[in-house]
Amino acid sequence: MIITILSGGVGGARFARGVREHLRRSLPDAELRIIVNTGDDMWLAGLRITPDLDSVMYTLARANDEERGWGRIGETERASAELNAYGVGWPWFTLGDLDLGTHIARSSFLRDGQTLSQATARITSRWDLGALLIPVTDSEVETHVTVEGGELHFQEWWTRHRARLPALGFVQRGIEGAVATDAALAAIRDADVVLVAPSNPVVSIGTILGIPGIRDALAATAAPIVGVSPIIGGAIVRGMADACLTAIGVETTAPAVAAHYGARSAGGLLDAWLVDTVDASASYDVPTTAVPLWMRDLDTSAQLASDALAAARL
Ligand code: GDP
Ligand code: CA
Repeated sequence: MIITILSGGVGGARFARGVREHLRRSLPDAELRIIVNTGDDMWLAGLRITPDLDSVMYTLARANDEERGWGRIGETERASAELNAYGVGWPWFTLGDLDLGTHIARSSFLRDGQTLSQATARITSRWDLGALLIPVTDSEVETHVTVEGGELHFQEWWTRHRARLPALGFVQRGIEGAVATDAALAAIRDADVVLVAPSNPVVSIGTILGIPGIRDALAATAAPIVGVSPIIGGAIVRGMADACLTAIGVETTAPAVAAHYGARSAGGLLDAWLVDTVDASASYDVPTTAVPLWMRDLDTSAQLASDALAAARL
């Protein structure tokens, strides 16, 4: 059995960890493939940074910093201070020393002519992830945010401005010419179920869906597609994704995001939608199941994974 997840960074990583745990407990022969957003990627200080791929990798490798919520555990920031002294990079975007090791390795592979998929395979082979990490595209697609008077990289808007600078919209630079990776298309085609993680619907899942070829693959797959709401009780669970939804005119509610994704029977994405029990009584455009959606620890995340597979009747 092949389980395929569409994932952003931190929210997707937590969910993926729960799915891996559930599979280990109940379906040890199942194969987990994770298609990861690359729209937050960028060149900085001469290095290729892939935040969502790294969030998923560090989390599955148990090398992530639980407390801070991102990056490596036991991180130090000596090299970053040196870069700042040279005026290289962004002073408000700290690159930890261990994290820099990953970025240097990746950039080295890319400069040798490897694709992001090949570089990712090399980098992830170091860790015991129990899952295959698949960049949605090897093309450089970067999410930019349109604001009054200009445009900035998503990462600058998110990290430097804490998403408070009013966003007028999002542009995926380079998306028209982008090509989905063969591995992403195969993971959707060959899946027994596709799970849409409770990730940012706009800049994580939205970017994945915008890569040419992905929507067609999702429409064509025989696998049921089950989405998990990143919104509980009208609020984002962690982070600032509500600013992204507001910018594209979608309310921060579980029914509004379901309507935004759409029912597959009506030409949309989803066969089933999981919402939290507090959102059970709302009406939905997609067949909906209400279960606890808070991923507090490994057990609650694994239970959520089990509920998602049950919604797919697996
Ligand atoms: P990012 O790329 O690091 O921003 O992470 P993602 O796009 O994968 O996920 C961000 C989303 O995860 C946020 O919108 C949160 O609402 C959602 N999220 C985080 N923790 C939880 C949780 O425990 N339960 C649910 N349902 N959603 C969560
Ligand atoms: Ca992200």
